[in-house]
Amino acid sequence: MDSKPLVLAALMVLAASFASYRFFLRLRPMFSAPGIDRLDHIGERLWGLVPNVLLHRRLLMIRYSGILHAMIFSSFIVLFTAIIQAFGSGLIPGFSLAPVGGNSVIALLQDVFAVVILVGVGMAFYNRFVIKPARFKGSNNKDATIILLLITSVVVSMLLEFAFHIAAGNEPSAAWRPLSSAIAKLLVALGFDGERAAEAAHILYWVHVSVILGFLTYIPGSKHLHMFAAIPNIFLRNIGPKGQSRTPDPKAAHIGLSDVRELDWKGMLDLYSCTECGRCQAACPAYAAGLPLSPKILIMNLRDALIGEETAPARPAGAPAAGSNLEALVGSVISEQTLWACTTCRACMDVCPLHIEHVPKIVDMRRHMVEAGHVTPGIQDAMASFQQYGNSFKKPARMRAKWTSGLDFKIKDARKEEVDILWFVGDYASYDPRVQRITQTVARLLRKAGVDFGILYDAEQNSGNDVRRVGDEGLFQTLSEHNIEALAGCSFKRIMTTDPHSLNALRQEYPAQGTSYEVIHYTQLLLELLREGRIEKAANGKVTGVVTYHDPCYLGRYNNGFEPPRQIFAELGYQLHEMGRCRENSFCCGAGGGRIWQDDTGVTERPSENRIREALALGDATIFAVACPKDLVMYTAAVQSLAVEDKIQVKDIAELFA
Ligand code: SF4
Ligand code: SF4
Repeated sequence: MDSKPLVLAALMVLAASFASYRFFLRLRPMFSAPGIDRLDHIGERLWGLVPNVLLHRRLLMIRYSGILHAMIFSSFIVLFTAIIQAFGSGLIPGFSLAPVGGNSVIALLQDVFAVVILVGVGMAFYNRFVIKPARFKGSNNKDATIILLLITSVVVSMLLEFAFHIAAGNEPSAAWRPLSSAIAKLLVALGFDGERAAEAAHILYWVHVSVILGFLTYIPGSKHLHMFAAIPNIFLRNIGPKGQSRTPDPKAAHIGLSDVRELDWKGMLDLYSCTECGRCQAACPAYAAGLPLSPKILIMNLRDALIGEETAPARPAGAPAAGSNLEALVGSVISEQTLWACTTCRACMDVCPLHIEHVPKIVDMRRHMVEAGHVTPGIQDAMASFQQYGNSFKKPARMRAKWTSGLDFKIKDARKEEVDILWFVGDYASYDPRVQRITQTVARLLRKAGVDFGILYDAEQNSGNDVRRVGDEGLFQTLSEHNIEALAGCSFKRIMTTDPHSLNALRQEYPAQGTSYEVIHYTQLLLELLREGRIEKAANGKVTGVVTYHDPCYLGRYNNGFEPPRQIFAELGYQLHEMGRCRENSFCCGAGGGRIWQDDTGVTERPSENRIREALALGDATIFAVACPKDLVMYTAAVQSLAVEDKIQVKDIAELFA
């Protein structure tokens, strides 16, 4: 009796048991993790797999890596038929895929895709060891190398097995296997034919199935767990509003994340899905600024903590802070400095091919720090100002509308009169002297266009968007409740904000408290007015200079407000020269997520200066257009500190109408 099926079955049971045990160890924390609803809108979730998995949309944003991944991914699908063939024929005598093309088309595809995958693996080796992109810094090179060698072994052993069978004259698909046949000719020339070739084919068979089974047992402990986790993780991605934070359970003992096991199961799946590709790290403004935050290493450290494999290798960023007295997660696995470095810009999330959610984890850990009273002096100062004044400028509420005194007309008080547009002005546009002239320009434009608008005067307080991202949930609730109450007493059709952060809070955060306003950004309203002919295209025909435009994170990435600013440039006749990092790939100014209230300790290059250099490198852009009051402040300061005022001017979009 042929012992092959028995031996193979035994090997398979052994490998499957070991692999299952290792998978179980990884999955066990997920069974007891807090729940999260990610099984809604099944159709939308499935449809999203087309661009994100099949078409490699995000992966192809880095073309070389995207192409090599597409080559390996597609080959895996095709070569899976060879795996079925190998195990099927080993277990069941006479098993063959011949009836479905196993000796013809499938055989040809296997040969062709063996070449495709080997070229892809070669490109991956070249990328990792010759090109060495900076984004790989901190990734586990050893693991990646083992995986690439295992893939090579699987494919080479498969090719050699077929070649030896052909050389032995017992391979029915020989005519459809050009590569294997070419290798077979070489083997015959080397004396491998007849019985000798058949014996070698037999050995290669066992090498081939052993490597496959070894691969299977290796995967649960490697970053290639993404082979199993990636598609579920993408399917279970967040398809809700991008700018809506998790509302903590008010009855919970604590609201922050103080232990990695408090992550919900999807948060844990995120950790297992990471391929350590470093795209998030390359996009991160905090990392680029030299701060101790790499979103990739943050995810890797959380994953290592979750699986209890804290090998504590030297990490270039995100290393544990020495001397912190916060237990478990924050201060031990992730340093406080790492968490305070984040601008919540979301660039990491939008480039991640696996749709891993970094920002909610960071905000939840910040919530824990706030609960424990561990905040930076800058944050503490800002929070105290919000508590006392409702703004971060330490200015009384009656000063909020002082900017209106520079106008030769009175703006309606929306608390007393009905208005079409209720303008939620925001802190920087109201209080910062560097921005007030822009706020006045917007007011004049609206007046000129005959817009019926009003403001809340001293009833407006900070929207709380960044307060929430700092992790002070209680203060966010206080600020939002105040504003919601003020708005409830007004009669208006739409709310307009100048500040994209306020836009996000009013449009995406406040609805969780029962509001349902239509909230627009001022660029949207200005575009409408232009198109309706209510604002004269005064600049049209007289425009000089090339414009480049910075997409604010909370207008673009969070609220999809990419088009109105660009359409305004087109309507006004400006020539727009885009920077390489634009739209979803925009590079944060460095002010968001509470960073604007912190000092520059540890910063080697301010993100705003990095951005101005990018604009200058365009060569012809003389106007750096912005659509966010904080951007105006950040970039004006950057232009001054770089001493390039004679080369480029920072202008709010409203100024381009003049
Ligand atoms: S989190 Fe996403 S982008 Fe970052 S390294 Fe992991 S897989 Fe790559
Ligand atoms: S949100 Fe922005 S700053 Fe924070 S980790 Fe992601 S890319 Fe870095």
